[in-house]
Amino acid sequence: YSKNPFVLSYELFPPKTDAGMVMLAEHLRKLIEFRPDFITCTYGAGGSTRDKTLSTLALVRELTPAPLATHLTCVGATANELRAYLQRAEAQGIAHVVALRGDAPGGQGSFVPVEGGFQYASELIAFLRAEFPRFGIVAAGYPETHPEALSPEADLDNLKRKVDAGADAIVTQLFYSNTDFFRFRDRCAAMGVSVPVVPGIMPVTNFGQIKRITSMCGASLPAALTETFERVAGDDEGQYQAGVDFATRQVDELLRAGVPGVHFYVLNQSRATSSVLGALNLRP
Ligand code: FAD
Repeated sequence: YSKNPFVLSYELFPPKTDAGMVMLAEHLRKLIEFRPDFITCTYGAGGSTRDKTLSTLALVRELTPAPLATHLTCVGATANELRAYLQRAEAQGIAHVVALRGDAPGGQGSFVPVEGGFQYASELIAFLRAEFPRFGIVAAGYPETHPEALSPEADLDNLKRKVDAGADAIVTQLFYSNTDFFRFRDRCAAMGVSVPVVPGIMPVTNFGQIKRITSMCGASLPAALTETFERVAGDDEGQYQAGVDFATRQVDELLRAGVPGVHFYVLNQSRATSSVLGALNLRP
């Protein structure tokens, strides 16, 4: 973000199967044509999922020299285990970490840190800064407030704690109302958060899926979007087109407002993100 006026990034998740890996490679080849500035891969709670984050990033490395970021959470791991993972990531040439608290496994109840682990992302970020100073660090931000936060103010105080602990940039949770993002960005600036605040965008291509995702992460769906999708219920291609049109308008408005980058939750697919980037002629 310090080198480029506009940073394009993609977020992938580790495929569960070998066939999923092959599909991901196919989609990535298309996404790479837009010359992303970095690519991230999410990190799950279980041990095998963790290995898959690194093996997915190894596959990405075969396809592009773009800088890579591993997501990392505090779930179920001691500081020693996190250190071991980070050493492997560093040895693999991964340059950045998206540092998160994570959620209770299986979405059950509230997050409980393990003994010898961390309770909040701010603690993980401080640990990263102290022990792995070469990593760039991204923290999560919530334009509509994190669902567990006591208040929007308390959540912003936490965001400031993450930046003070060493986060270099904030990437937001997905959102569909730019008004929420602009308000969040203004409030970050007002409290002295000076690192880039980057919108996280997930084009809707299937309304059922997005309803599930937003209900899990606490994001809301504007009435205009819901009504558009109700008009094309049962029409897969109609839903896809409506989603791409909405995301194109959303990103266009964000670009005009001078955002420092856009982080696409691509869901290991290329078509929707490519359509948005192509329509905006962002990386011709
Ligand atoms: P934190 O910043 O620690 O905040 C968690 C909650 O605690 C908030 O409500 C906050 O306000 C509160 N809080 C923080 N500090 C204090 C304090 N000192 N006192 C009181 N309250 C406090 N999850 C995954 O499992 N894997 C992933 O790969 C992943 N990637 C993500 C990428 C992005 C860009 C985003 C936005 C989210 C991602 N998540 C991922 C989801 C994330 O783990 C959850 O949203 C989780 O519930 C919170 O993580 P956090 O890092 O924001 O936590």
